[in-house]
Parts: sequence; structure tokens; C-alpha cells
Amino acid sequence: MAVPLMQAVRVGRYVVKQHLLGRKRYPLVLMLEPLFRCNLACSGCGKIDYPAQILNQRLSLQECLDADAEADAPVIAIAGGEPLLHKEMPEIVKGLTARKKYVYLCTNGLLLDKKLDDYEPNPFFSWDIHLDGDKAMHDSSVCQEGVYERAVAAIRKAKERGFRVSINCTLFDGAQPERVARFFDEVMALGVDGVMTAPGYAYERAPDQEHFLNRQKTKQLFRDIFRLGKGKKWRFTQSPLFLNFLAGNENYHCTPWGKPLRTVFGWQRPCYLLGEGYAKTFKELMDDTAWDQYGTGAYEKCADCMVHSGYESTAVMDAVKRPWHIAKVALFGPETEKPMVPEISLANQRKAEYKYEAQVAEQVTLLESRKPARGPRVRVHKAEDKPVEVADAAD
Ligand code: SF4
Repeated sequence: MAVPLMQAVRVGRYVVKQHLLGRKRYPLVLMLEPLFRCNLACSGCGKIDYPAQILNQRLSLQECLDADAEADAPVIAIAGGEPLLHKEMPEIVKGLTARKKYVYLCTNGLLLDKKLDDYEPNPFFSWDIHLDGDKAMHDSSVCQEGVYERAVAAIRKAKERGFRVSINCTLFDGAQPERVARFFDEVMALGVDGVMTAPGYAYERAPDQEHFLNRQKTKQLFRDIFRLGKGKKWRFTQSPLFLNFLAGNENYHCTPWGKPLRTVFGWQRPCYLLGEGYAKTFKELMDDTAWDQYGTGAYEKCADCMVHSGYESTAVMDAVKRPWHIAKVALFGPETEKPMVPEISLANQRKAEYKYEAQVAEQVTLLESRKPARGPRVRVHKAEDKPVEVADAAD
């Protein structure tokens, strides 16, 4: 089992409690992005295309703890940017796990060798290492040679030290099912505790706009992969029903509030993938977001989305409503032969709105207005393989 039994029980208990309390919307996983700065520049990433003033911002330890107190989700995924560039990351992890939150720390693994001693194995903590396929696939995805080998070395070292380690595998157009299946075999042999996989979301700021999968291609790709995986013991950290959805067997609508995102801008509306605005508080995010305006069929930018941050929560909530259904899929794996469920119509979706430039201008103005009279000192230091500018005030 990729997710520890106690974690599955606690999360299941939490979901049942929300249903009994009659809560229409509630978070399952708090997504924390305490910084946007990264030491890679991947072709499919839509998170790091910000000016330096914004890349130098950090959520403090206290802000991360406060975000947890506001959302109070049972699971927390810390992403970015590259979280290991954040100086307070060990304290953030310690603070959140002390509250008995299941923390997944998402990293490209480049700094893991140096930073591993700052962390301790803990049943509430797991590394989640970015690995988009085999060596050639991953190095191409992250636009840098040698990253795959360093990430694999980091996985080995973390496992040797007794940490839980999962991998996060995003797939793009052109991925070959046989190759992905071989890769899943390899990571299982490496001893990873689980795989989290999904298609890439077509971020409008990603440098490579050519290789995002549409929904039809996504479903066919995952069907072909899962067919090759029949009888193998691949361990996924995701709900079997989400995998069934990826293979074209569930007609799910997204649950964007299931994985709310707190960034240095505030609480992002409507979801982890789309930054259409920011709320000051978690309550404001939940109460005042026009949720009906988003999702496949409702909004052009959502047309091809099948990402776990939108649909995993739908799958988990479905599992509570239909436990016999999840039991069947967990036992036999996702359906790979029967006709797929009909696709959601896009006939009435509203047109995309483009807000990035205005949001950046607003944030930069805000930062300028907060500048101390003398202006911030900016030093340049070598964080890993290449120089990274870090504002003293931000760190
Ligand atoms: S479909 Fe849902 S999860 Fe995906 S981008 Fe749209 S709002 Fe976000």
C-alpha cells in the first residue's frame, strides 16, 4: 500500500466527518508554495516566470503554520519553486508534522544530498521527488542533463536513511506507454513507496506550449500504461478512482477547493493550477470564489485539465459515497477495454481571461510600497549549481 494505513484511516475519517457535518466544500490537501524561486527552469513549468522581486519572496515559518491553522486539512503538500531553497524549510516541516499533518515535501532532488541531515524520518513526513520518466524523458522535461541521475541518487540515499519517498511523475504529449511502464517498473525496483502521476496542465506561462496533452490523448495514454501494468504491483499514492478517471472511466467534475493553494500572493483562486485572483484568508477563498465559473465545460482554460490537484479530491469524495466501487477498482485496476465515458461538452464554456500581467504589476507595486527607506540589500550567492539572487528581507 503506497499510503500508510494510518494515513488512509485518518483521511477517510476526516472526509466522513465533513460529510456528517454537512460541509459542501472542504480541503483535503493544503498546497503550500512558500516560494516561487527554483534552481531549474523546466519547459512545462508555469510557476517561475516572475520578476526577481517576486521570486525573492518567501512565506515565513509563521505564515505557513497560520495557513495550516486556517485550512486545517489532514495532508499538506509543500511545492514551489524549489522548497529546499527556503532556509526555514526544516522548521516548517517540523512544525507541521508536530501537528500530526501528513507532509509531502516536493523537490527536484538537486539539493537533497546536502540538506538530508536537516530532516528526520517521521511517519507524518514523505519526500516527493520530481521524476518525469526515465533518464532521457526527465532530463528533457527539466531541460538539464544529469538531473535524473542526481534525483535517483537522492532517492536511494533518502531510502537508506529510512525516509518515506514517493515520486511525482508528470506526463506530456509524446510519452510512450511502453517506456512509461518500464519506468514505473524501475522506480518500484528502486524501492519508492509510491508514484503520483498526472498529465501536465497547460500553464499559459510555460515556455513549451506544444507538448501538453488534451483529454482524449491523456485517457488513451493512461489506458495504455495501465494495460501494461496489469498484474504488476505498481504502488500509486493516488486514489484508484483517480487513476480510473485518468483512464477515461469516470465522468468527474473537478473539486478545485479540495487542494487550496497558499502562495506569497495569498490564497489562489480557483485552484493550484489557475491563478485568477487571490483571497486574503482561507475563509474568503472558500466563501467568495465564483466556483461555478471554473472547471471543464465551464471555462476555456479548464478544457484539457485532468490534473490530480483538481480531480483527486473528487475521486476521494466519490470513494466515500461508493465504497464498493473503489473496492472493485482497487482490486482489478482501472478499466482498459470498455468504451470510455462520454466527454464533457465544451459548447458553453466561457472564454479565457488573461490576468497574469496585471497581477504581477499589482504585486510589484505592493512590494515597492513596503520597501524600507534605504531599499532592500540584495546579495547574490551560489545556492546550488547556479547563482540565485536572494533578498535578505525575504529569507
Ligand atoms: S479544471 Fe478545475 S482544477 Fe483544472 S484548472 Fe480548471 S478549476 Fe483548476
